[in-house]
This record gives sequence, C-alpha cells and structure tokens, in this order.
Amino acid sequence: MNDRSNPEMRAGNARPKTVLKYAAWLKFSGVSVDFFNRVVRRLIWPKADLVIRLWLAEIFFVSGVLKLTAWHTALDLATNEYAVSWMNPVSAAYTGVGIEVLGGVLLAIGFMTRYAAIPMLILSLVIQFAYLPFDNQLFWALLFAWYAIQGAGPLSIDSLLRRGLADSALPLVPSIVRASDRVRVHLGPIILSAMRLWLASTLLLAVWPGFLDQNQLAAAGMWLPLQTVAYMPVSVALVGGVLLLMGFATRYVSMALILALFVGTMIDPRLNDAAYLLMFFVIFIVHGAGAISVDHIVARLFEKFLPHLHLSAESLAALPRVVIVGAGFGGISCAAGLRGNAASVTVIDQANYHLFQPLLYQVATAALSPGDIAAPVRPLFRDSFSTRVLLGKVSSIDTEKQVVSTGEKEIPYDYLVLATGAAHSYFGKDQWAPYAPGLKRIEDATDIRRRILTAFERAEAAEDSVARESLLTFLIVGGGPTGVELAGAIAELARFGMEKEFRNFDPAHARVILVQSAPRLLPAFPEKLAAIAQRSLEQLGVDVRIGSRVEHIDADGVTVSGERIPAKTVLWAAGVTASPAAKWLQVEADNAGRVIVGPDLSVPGLPNVYAIGDTAASNAWNGQGVPGLAPAAKQGGAYVARHIRARIAGKTTPPPFAYRHLGSLATIGRKAAVADFGFLRLWGAPAWWLWGFVHVGFLVGLRNRLSTMVNWFWTYLTFGGGIRLITGSDTLPVAEKAVKPSA
Ligand SMILES: Cc1cc2nc3c(=O)[nH]c(=O)nc-3n(C[C@H](O)[C@H](O)[C@H](O)COP(=O)(O)OP(=O)(O)OC[C@H]3O[C@@H](n4cnc5c(N)ncnc54)[C@H](O)[C@@H]3O)c2cc1C
Repeated sequence: MNDRSNPEMRAGNARPKTVLKYAAWLKFSGVSVDFFNRVVRRLIWPKADLVIRLWLAEIFFVSGVLKLTAWHTALDLATNEYAVSWMNPVSAAYTGVGIEVLGGVLLAIGFMTRYAAIPMLILSLVIQFAYLPFDNQLFWALLFAWYAIQGAGPLSIDSLLRRGLADSALPLVPSIVRASDRVRVHLGPIILSAMRLWLASTLLLAVWPGFLDQNQLAAAGMWLPLQTVAYMPVSVALVGGVLLLMGFATRYVSMALILALFVGTMIDPRLNDAAYLLMFFVIFIVHGAGAISVDHIVARLFEKFLPHLHLSAESLAALPRVVIVGAGFGGISCAAGLRGNAASVTVIDQANYHLFQPLLYQVATAALSPGDIAAPVRPLFRDSFSTRVLLGKVSSIDTEKQVVSTGEKEIPYDYLVLATGAAHSYFGKDQWAPYAPGLKRIEDATDIRRRILTAFERAEAAEDSVARESLLTFLIVGGGPTGVELAGAIAELARFGMEKEFRNFDPAHARVILVQSAPRLLPAFPEKLAAIAQRSLEQLGVDVRIGSRVEHIDADGVTVSGERIPAKTVLWAAGVTASPAAKWLQVEADNAGRVIVGPDLSVPGLPNVYAIGDTAASNAWNGQGVPGLAPAAKQGGAYVARHIRARIAGKTTPPPFAYRHLGSLATIGRKAAVADFGFLRLWGAPAWWLWGFVHVGFLVGLRNRLSTMVNWFWTYLTFGGGIRLITGSDTLPVAEKAVKPSA
C-alpha cells in the first residue's frame, strides 16, 4: 500500500492538520454555530418541533371538543369563570372553542401556524390573567409567541409550501410570506433571548433564598412558572439560572439541565410537570441563546477573527476524500452516515436520481409513474456542504493511484465505497435479452410498460385470432418476488384496468403465464407462503408453471420444457449479476460476479476500498450470504460509514458487519401479499396493508410518498387503469399475422 492510502499523509495536503483539528473541535464546542446549524437543527429540530406542536395542539383540541360536547359548560365558563368585558359570553364561548379546535388542527398539521398561534397565545393569556393563573399557561403563551414569530419547522405544510407561495401569483400572498420571513429573521433571536431570560429569572427567583417575600413571590407567580421549577435542586437551578441569564454555553447548559431534569424526576416526582422545561431546553439546544447573549458575541468574534472555522471549499480540500460510486440504497445510506463528519464525500452515479427498485414493477404495469419512485440525488444532500454529487458512469478504477475514472474525469479517493448494484443475467443466453427485457432501471420499466400496452393496442388492430392470442399472451420468466409481482400486476391490469375499452376482444381474457424452473415459487419464503402466493395468482387467472425450464426465446414466443408458447411479450425476472466492480478492481468475485468482501465489507488486499449491497458477496448473515435486498444494502452503507468515520477519527473500528434480516415481503395484487418475519407470517389483506405501509415509508421524499399513496388510492378505489402511456420508440416486432406454433 502506498502512502497515499493514508489520508493523513496525502501528498499535496499543505494545510496543517492541527488547524483542522482545532476548527473541528471549536465547531463541536458550540462556539461556532456551524455544527448545530448543520447537524442538530437538521436532525433533531424537525421531530422536536413536531412533538411540541402536537403536544400543544392535543391540549387545545381536546379541550375544545370537550366543550363542544358539553356546550352548557362552555357557556358557563365564558359567563362566570373567565368572562371578558369586551365580548359577550356566547360570542366568547364560540370564539374560545373555535380557537381551540381549529387552532389545534392547524398547529398539528403545521398549516398557517403563525396565524393559528396568535389567537392561541391571546387565549392562554386571557385564561391566565382573567381566570386562573397556571404555570402551564405561561409556557403555552411563550411557545405560541415563538410559533407566531418563528413559524412551524420542516415537518409542516407551511414549510412544504413556503417557497412556492413566496413566488406564487396569488394576490398578497408573496408579500405576506416575505413579511413573515422578515419577522422571523429580526424577531426570532429576540424571542429566543426573551424565553431564555424569562426561564433564567424563574430559576433564580424560585430558589434564591429570601430574595422575594411571600407577597412578591405570589405576584411574580402570575408571570413566571415558579411552581414548576420550585422542586429543582437549588444548586442546579442557581448555576443553570446564572449561565442561562448570561447566555453562556447555552446549548451545553441546556443539555446539562435536561439531564438534571431526568435525574430530578426520578428522585422527586413533583418535578413531573417538567415537560415544558424540556421543550424550552430543546429549543435552546437547537437554536442557541438568541441575540442578547454572551454566546452570540463570542460567535461573532470568532467569525471575525477566525473565519476559517466555517467550512469553505478550501477547507474541504484538506479533508480525507471518500468517493461513493452508486446512489442506490447502499450508496445513499453510506453518504448519509458520513454527513457532518470531517470528510469530503463525493457521490457518483450514472443517473441523477435514486431509484426505488421494489416498486419498478408498478411503473412497468402502469400503476405508478417513474417520478413516483425516483428522487433526484442532488437535493438529498443540499444541506450537506461536505457532500458533492457527480453525474457520471464509472468505467475503471486505478487502485494504485487511488483514482476512479468516468472516462472523462478522474476522481481521486482516500476511501472508496462501491455500491453499484446488479444487472440482469441471462445465464449465458444474452441473445434472449432483446425479446425478454428485465426490470432494473426506469428505462426498463417504461420499455416494459410500452410493450405491454402496445400488445393490447395491436391486439385490437389484429384481424387474425391466432395473432391476437399471441399478442395477448404475457409470459414472465422467474418465480421470485419480481416475477410474482409482475404476473399479478399484469393480470390485474388486464382483468380490471381496461374493462370495456376494447371492441375486438375482452382484455380480461389475456393469458398471463409465470414460468419457474424451481419446484416452487418464492424460494426465499417459507413453503406455506409460497403456496398461498401461487393460489392467489391462480385465482387471478395466472397460469403458474412450476418446475418448467425456458429453453428458447425469440421474437414470437418461448419454448418451455419442450412446449412452444407463442407470446409477444416476454419478461425476464430470473437472474441477476453484479456490476463489473470486481473487474474494475481485478479482485476475486463469486459466481454472480459480486466482489467477495471481508468481515468489515472492505475488499481483501485493498483496505481502503469497500463494496456494499448487491455488488458485494458477504457472509455477514450468521455465516450465510447476505441477500440482495434493499435493507441489506442500507445496513451495509451505514456500517461502512461508521467504519470510515472511526478510521478518520483514529478510533477503534466497529466490530464486523452483521446483517439483521428484517423480513421478506411480496405482493400479488389487490388485498393479496405474503410477509415473512420469521416469528410472524402474514398473508392476504394484513400482509398487503403492511406491504403498502412499508413501501411508502421507505420511498425517498415526501412528494413521492404522497403521490404514490394518491395513485394507489385512486387505482384501488376506482379500479382505474393507471398511467397507461405508451412512450419511447416501438421495438416490438410488427406481427399481427398468425404465428404458427412450432415445436
Ligand atoms: C424489480 C426489483 C424489485 C425489487 N424488490 C425488492 C423488494 O421488494 N424488497 C427489497 O428489499 N429489495 C428489492 N429489490 C432489491 C433491491 O432493490 C436491491 O437489493 C437494492 O437496490 C440494492 O441496493 P444497492 O445500493 O446495492 O444497488 P442499487 O440500488 O441498484 O443502486 C446502484 C446504483 O449504482 C449506480 N451505478 C451502477 N453502475 C454504475 C456506474 N458504472 N457508474 C456510476 N453509477 C453506477 C446505479 O445507477 C444505481 O443508482 C428489488 C430489485 C429489483 C430490480
């Protein structure tokens, strides 16, 4: 191994290592807000914000619904308990309930959050000062003030629509969005400081002995949640209060106070009401101390005098270079695992999108469109400054020089991760490929969709019944999950999707044949589930041929175990072979062409090169081969990211990779699927629902999840035929005349 393989000693790396170390340390120390802005805000805030909103929304919504169901109580409260001079009791009751119910819903979904928070803030203050003072109401008021200024976090409809509305043609809306942004930028740091100072004063006044007499304490209790913090240990409240008051190391102080709260609630159950304190501390951890704080001054000074603390293209150049080839499940998970770490990551893919292959068959059978199951890679790393995305097809690797080549460009690496997936294998019969396309890429799916739909169109035009029959025969080779799913989906499309649309034939009479050489379908599933899958397919009218071998495929049909079957549409779901990664590296491969990797997924003899997912052959499933499944690729990617992180940091590397099998799923059609989790086996509708949830959950991007769900609901409720577009050039052999069956 040459010395370039050691990232610490890279030639040409002029930047002193200590400066980087220093910079990284200061970033983590929180003095530079960079780490918190890039990592904590992105990872923690979306979920924390959602939890806070749901918490507040639930309180108000439930209260509103209870009043609606007991309207006389609502009227009684508005008349006698918190009557306000400026509104009559009936209007006040309606307004109060309206704010609670509608505000609760809007807050929960994060729609018009700012405008929902303002009346909720007023309502909290009215109850606090016109009715009964309660600590909780003070917390609500400040949290609503925060939402009125800051708006909802990323997991909200507001966040989803913000950019579009800011640039929309709706009257006034862009101006309102811009004004809200200005409010956030200018008032955000101020409300943050106000919340911190308010909490600091509460902590200090609650535990400062003799600072306020009883009367003063009672008066202060209207404005400060003194009861909530009264049971905090004095020393914690004092130190925490002083540091919060100064706004010094606020993020770390807040973390320490959360820890103290947890310990405190275990020791003294009276601290049980501390949920609101937790929310405030989380806000401080994510957003910092605000404008009026020592932290703010220190950060500005650092920015001025040590500008290199902020990541720049120049500082990236000095970091160890990790190149990931392939933005599939493995590659994306590895790049995500390296986010925010001291590494310059380059993700190279021949496509500009990440493809969710498990739903490819739905594109091929017109249930979904390509955009539903593919997401552009670049936006996935928009917020990760140290990750760049390159479009290019890798054609060779020089392990001596440590460069990856795309033909046009050479990309140097210190660590290389190969996640290039797999391709079809015709078991040496590559001449069958033009007649029996496989399903691996978007282009394959749209090509198959074109072939299937064109066959129906030609059948309508065909005058010869024999020709029509061969056009309406769909033969799928391979009885694994992809073959089963394709057969079920084509049968459903023919039976339900195109009803009454053709005049010369009934599409429901189309023949779907599934050929499997093994003695049963779904060999990776338990026998019982395989039998259920076969029965479900047969109920859909699929002709399942078990133990049958495909001997020949041409433009007119297939010979299966000696029988000639005229079929114009033949699909290949039988075999896969790994990408040429092993050839690029000139290392040992298994029968399927996969790179044989060691226990840490690195390539023997090339410790800085890793292979993951479908491209790697690993025995990390309790000594057995890791299956070619998306979770396996994801787990491999996450593991390699951990391994590389440890090596870069000079720490002990994690123990050998161990694949955890999460289960297997395959769907057959409407309400029919099989699921095997080892300890639990499901079939029929429960398995089908589970399959749907899992697949929507694993899709990348909210837009894809929503569009897939809408398409599914539409198709399943209306029996609609989906996205039946014939696109691309027609390579189907034109043969509407009779085809003589040959032996
Ligand atoms: C039709 C079908 C259905 C499936 N159904 C399921 C299922 O239901 N459940 C399940 O768990 N698994 C399923 N799988 C398997 C699963 O999709 C794979 O195991 C998984 O995608 C492997 O991930 P990967 O990262 O190794 O490779 P992939 O996800 O295939 O990603 C490889 C990436 O490398 C890129 N690439 C390839 N060669 C190059 C090159 N030379 N240069 C640059 N980039 C390159 C590709 O463009 C691609 O983006 C299915 C697969 C298929 C094909």
